[in-house]
Amino acid sequence: MIQSLLIANRGEIARRIIRTARRLGIRTIAVHSDVDADMPFVREADEAVCIGTAPAADSYLRQDRLLAAARETGAEAIHPGYGFLSENAEFAQAVIAAGLVWVGAPPASILAMGLKDAAKERMIAAGVPVTPGYLGADQSPRRLQAEADAIGYPVLIKAVAGGGGKGMRKVDAAGDFAELLESCKREAAASFGNTQVLIEKYILSPRHIEVQVFGDTHGNVVHLFERDCSLQRRHQKVIEEAPAPGMDDATRAAVCDAAVRAAKAVDYVGAGTIEFIADGSEGLRADRVWFMEMNTRLQVEHPVTEAITGQDLVEWQLRVASGEPLPRRQDELSITGWAMEARLYAENPGTGFLPSTGPLDRLRFPAGVRIDSGVEEGGAVTPYYDPMIAKLIVHGGTRREAAASLADAARGTQVWPVRTNAAFLARAAAHPDFVAGRVDTGFIERHTEGLIPPAEPSPAVLAAAAAAILPPVTADPWSSLRGFRGNAVSSPTVEVEVAGKPYLVSPGIVPGAATADGVLFLDGEAWPFGVRRADHIGGAGEGDGAVLSPMPGRVIAVLVEAGQTVVRGERMLVLEAMKMEQALMAPFDGVVAELRAVEGAQVPEGTLLVRIDKGEG
Ligand code: ADP
Ligand code: ADP
Ligand code: MG
Repeated sequence: MIQSLLIANRGEIARRIIRTARRLGIRTIAVHSDVDADMPFVREADEAVCIGTAPAADSYLRQDRLLAAARETGAEAIHPGYGFLSENAEFAQAVIAAGLVWVGAPPASILAMGLKDAAKERMIAAGVPVTPGYLGADQSPRRLQAEADAIGYPVLIKAVAGGGGKGMRKVDAAGDFAELLESCKREAAASFGNTQVLIEKYILSPRHIEVQVFGDTHGNVVHLFERDCSLQRRHQKVIEEAPAPGMDDATRAAVCDAAVRAAKAVDYVGAGTIEFIADGSEGLRADRVWFMEMNTRLQVEHPVTEAITGQDLVEWQLRVASGEPLPRRQDELSITGWAMEARLYAENPGTGFLPSTGPLDRLRFPAGVRIDSGVEEGGAVTPYYDPMIAKLIVHGGTRREAAASLADAARGTQVWPVRTNAAFLARAAAHPDFVAGRVDTGFIERHTEGLIPPAEPSPAVLAAAAAAILPPVTADPWSSLRGFRGNAVSSPTVEVEVAGKPYLVSPGIVPGAATADGVLFLDGEAWPFGVRRADHIGGAGEGDGAVLSPMPGRVIAVLVEAGQTVVRGERMLVLEAMKMEQALMAPFDGVVAELRAVEGAQVPEGTLLVRIDKGEG
């Protein structure tokens, strides 16, 4: 067994590899860019070497520096993780040439499967069914169009060097082909430096089914069953599961056999994934599953396979790289229960999934779930790398149990101020079609409206926010509420400001809600809130019109002038407190009789900011 390992990657997968290496007594060496110096994976490795600046091209992709770091630290082996250089045959070759152990696929296998067209040719020769289409060398737009017309629409144009869902265009009608071909080539040139494309029949009711395969240096190849990764957004996986819903034994045997044949055809060694596209319109059928591509590396979603097989795939990788035979024979592998994984991304579903970067003041996950994450509370999401914050991995006896656990895990996830897709994941996992196993790659697009959390806080959010501040200071925000429950006489309303907007609501007990530092967490959503007691704003016709600062803060905007008329509810000033903005409203119609607030001023709680007189208003 190798004794030391340099991990040529970062974040989640670097930590994942360190975990297993440590258990096996292998010394680990992290490499990192300067901005990653404080990341958990750097701390958790036995040694760490800074190899450059933030852009991956100056650090994680610098083959020379990676090899130099291995030399300097006396590392015996290099694990590339996924992404970055994991499928770079040149790097694999350089590692081997330097006398190091490459914990990855053999360079020749990487090359054979690296371009989608060549890989498909290879698979046809090996008797593996491939997606019907055109792989030809003639790349003239006329020929490509003619081939697409012959295949019949819809078709998919794919950059042969594509990956990560990039360099792909679906064409629905002949008239759109020329334009989409151009844009596909543009993207391919920019992302992969290769404009070659292939054309595939676009499979209807498409399901992404993939098979985990493993080979060793003794000529053995096994599969570890299938995963279903049909829940995708823009061809990128969002929720993965194993096994695939609706997979019967005969179809499984056929698909997994095809995967093993595919791996053997390229003399595969190590962890790999054969991706298939299936036409799921009549359930999964062996004659409607076609090879799409092979990923010659460990896959992001490998934990669902680990969960159902009880195997540690990183351990398998390290053993195989050390020359040992596969830890299990095919007949020693079986499926137990059902596993699901959701990718928690730093993105805001409410703004069209714009990426969200910044500090992770809060990052909490529910207990009892496997969390594979590259960051921790107090850290940050930087703009330089992948937006994945964590993978939530659950395992249950049945698919329904797994789906329920996944929804719970997403609901219980608390992240702030970085925005995430947690609520979106929770809604997807709880969707009746998902729970019933009706999944295909169009699922997310079809259901988008119901999956994106509304921009306005729900009554539950408002009730919980109100409850969290009434009375303003208690150790347990719920204890005071219990007194109000069932108390019909006094049903206090609270002026709550949630996400910058005022609401007048009654507090309520909302199971699952949690608050921290002025942020309410519920069902995977995060709402900044602030409140003012109803008596502070007087209510209709009540009070003396004095508007006080409800909490210590800074006046960041004064929106009224002395003498101005205002109407009830009109925004008069904006206070910044607890990292969020809170507008203060006029308690009733009237005139600004006194204006004490000054923009930029820091004010203690209870400071008189504005006084409104009733009357002429
Ligand atoms: P899969 O493994 O299922 O095919 P992807 O294609 O999404 O999934 O995985 C590869 C992607 O992972 C790369 O395109 C890259 O953006 C991303 N990636 C690479 N390194 C890391 C990392 N350390 N942490 C998180 N994501 C990473
Ligand atoms: P990448 O290298 O970007 O992962 P893939 O060839 O694996 O590219 O395709 C990515 C995704 O695109 C698949 O998971 C599937 O959702 C969709 N897709 C690919 N080929 C087809 C096809 N022929 N018909 C329908 N959908 C497809
Ligand atoms: Mg793929």
